[in-house]
Amino acid sequence: MSLPDRVKPSTAAAQALGFLDPATGAFVPPIQPATTYERGADNRLLSGRLYSRADNPNYDQVEALLTRLEGGAATAVFSSGMSAATAVFLSLRPGDHVLVPDVIYWALRSWLVGWATDWGLRIESVDATRPALAGAAVRPGETRLVWIETPANPTLAVTDIAALAEIAHRAGARLAVDSTFATPVHTQPIALGADLVMHSATKYLNGHSDVVAGSVTTAAVDDSWQRIKAIRSQAGSVLGPFEAWLLLRGMRTLFVRVAAQSHAAQAIAERFSVHPRVEAVLYPGLAAFPGHEVAARQMSGGFGGVLSIRVKGGAPAALKLIGRLRIWKRATSLGGVESLVEHRASVEGPQSATPADLLRLSVGLEDADDLIGDLDQALG
Ligand SMILES: *Cc1c(COP(=O)(O)O)cnc(C)c1O
Repeated sequence: MSLPDRVKPSTAAAQALGFLDPATGAFVPPIQPATTYERGADNRLLSGRLYSRADNPNYDQVEALLTRLEGGAATAVFSSGMSAATAVFLSLRPGDHVLVPDVIYWALRSWLVGWATDWGLRIESVDATRPALAGAAVRPGETRLVWIETPANPTLAVTDIAALAEIAHRAGARLAVDSTFATPVHTQPIALGADLVMHSATKYLNGHSDVVAGSVTTAAVDDSWQRIKAIRSQAGSVLGPFEAWLLLRGMRTLFVRVAAQSHAAQAIAERFSVHPRVEAVLYPGLAAFPGHEVAARQMSGGFGGVLSIRVKGGAPAALKLIGRLRIWKRATSLGGVESLVEHRASVEGPQSATPADLLRLSVGLEDADDLIGDLDQALG
């Protein structure tokens, strides 16, 4: 690594910490597909590496960069955001009490309800946007983990990370933050007191809709962290070397992508919050949004590239609107260079608590005027 320690995060990302390949002097790391590594005549491992389920050289640089951007002590990349998130829960023990927010990434809620409870975790959900409620729900000595997601998918609900860290720590629990929507560009949860930061790296970190990956960054390398890492190496939720390489490549442009996407999302949110066919725009960057004050305190440089729009006329009007779009793509996921729109209630099914009139918009890198014009014509 040839970059001074004190450079700004965007510099660290652009140069991927200044790595040079020792064999060639290349700025770009080689992809190492090997699954196994040789031992010397004395039977010692030549490189310290044993087998690629435990570690792969293509993880080193991307994990070091994420650790730097999050201000943590260590990072582990996983084969998906879900495997990163579930590793945190699976590192707990049967009987442990866990507090989760009532608005939480849909697939994680399904897993917690459908699986984690069967394995003995006591999962309780609470409106984490109201610290007083979370403070009352946490059980000193019993709650081991408080999990939050901010801004939350898909309502953009904002949770006060510092307040929840205090509540968790007072009860002897740890705070984990799903920071997928905020990205390290806008928020560093560890500096606000979080113990763990999780990302669906599929989204902004990679940024090109061509890798499924996840990460967990820890504030401290301790026993709980070793359990999380053991889930990756023993249960085997490992990222492939090519995917790790693509993720690092994507992260080099993280700061310019997210800055442009947040800037355009702010413009779109402001433009449509006053549209006669729009019931409400949910976006932390709007002064009237309930979480705005907390977001302004804990996010810097923007409020992220995702917003949701509630359309007047319910689900039929929302579906009609997206049927008329010509530039926005109708697809799931977020954080890529192409703008995506999704009617979440259709995807989540009858159990969904998401309002039927809600459309989730992920702003890409197209010209903001084109995106606004397309929404305008579709709203009619
Ligand atoms: C997509 C997403 C996840 C899950 O990540 P995958 O990479 O799809 O497994 C978790 N949390 C949030 C907020 C997400 O948007």
